[in-house]
Amino acid sequence: MSEKIKTNVLIIGSGAAGYTAAIYAARANLKPHLVTGLEPGGQLTITTDVENYPGFGDVIQGPWLMEQMREQALKVGTEIHNDFVTNVDFNSSPFIATTDSGLIFRSKTTIISTGAKARWLEIESEEKFKGYGISACATCDGFFFKDQDVAVIGGGNSAVEEALFLTNFASKVTLIHRRDQLRAEKILQDRLFKNPKVEIIWNKTVKNFQGNTDTPALEKILLKSTTDNSESEIKVSGAFIAIGHDPATSLFLNKIKMDKENYIITKPDSTSTSIPGVFAAGDVKDKIYRQAVTAAGMGCIAALEAEKFLAENS
Ligand code: NAP
Repeated sequence: MSEKIKTNVLIIGSGAAGYTAAIYAARANLKPHLVTGLEPGGQLTITTDVENYPGFGDVIQGPWLMEQMREQALKVGTEIHNDFVTNVDFNSSPFIATTDSGLIFRSKTTIISTGAKARWLEIESEEKFKGYGISACATCDGFFFKDQDVAVIGGGNSAVEEALFLTNFASKVTLIHRRDQLRAEKILQDRLFKNPKVEIIWNKTVKNFQGNTDTPALEKILLKSTTDNSESEIKVSGAFIAIGHDPATSLFLNKIKMDKENYIITKPDSTSTSIPGVFAAGDVKDKIYRQAVTAAGMGCIAALEAEKFLAENS
């Protein structure tokens, strides 16, 4: 049976942005409701060690951090629903959102914090070493590869930036690209080509990752040529997949303004979207920084802006 819930603030998504928005909205006495989505906790739940979230002297675990954020959101008065939103209507006032379990929310404001997902190569061996040598975030995990050899897969801005960032720690960084030309901006390419720690392997894709599977540790990458199908291998202890991200915005297609890559567009220095009363925070609108702390910051801004919107429109 469908249950109808009226709320000041509906938060869709439960990563760092969503939980932070919930904490701020609840502390402003707005009694927010948060719908978690299919992967409660978001991208941080698939990372292991986190060393760059401020406030912790010791290394913490991504899943633990998200559990703490959830606890905090609950404690200050957020209602959390382990459910996922299947439809939204931003033309009605209040907005309407329906969930898989049949909840119908009527909300005066909505905060979209559905995040993004790193694209993976989707080969079987990748799964075995995720978090044990394979990562999709150099900023998060690069530090763990001090004085080791690592590879970056991809040829866009992210891949080149990650490769350059990794030269701060790794002894050698090999960029593996499937074509003979990078997609990244020229200025980044120049920096990459000049860096003595960087080697580029052109026209190759990853065929397989290999290593110790008992105490998982990546040891080498088997490569396949895109020009003649020949095979080769390189020894590395880390591999960073940087082949792009996809924002989780399919629910909002044609309902809110997005850019050509389907990231939600927000006004400058704001989380306001093309629909007054709908705010977007975190990786769903940010293709550049993508950090837990920047997502949390945007979640805070979204809640403050929702509070201001409610004060001005009620
Ligand atoms: P991207 O520009 O879409 O580049 C993805 C790269 O991965 C491409 O080189 C692509 O190869 C390669 N690739 C895709 N699928 C692959 C597969 N299955 N196997 C091997 N390689 C694969 O993604 P991005 O670099 O993450 O950038 C996304 C957006 O964010 C872009 O608009 C970018 O400009 C922006 N961005 C900006 C900054 C900045 O301004 N500082 C930083 C990061 C990202 P092909 O080239 O052959 O297609």
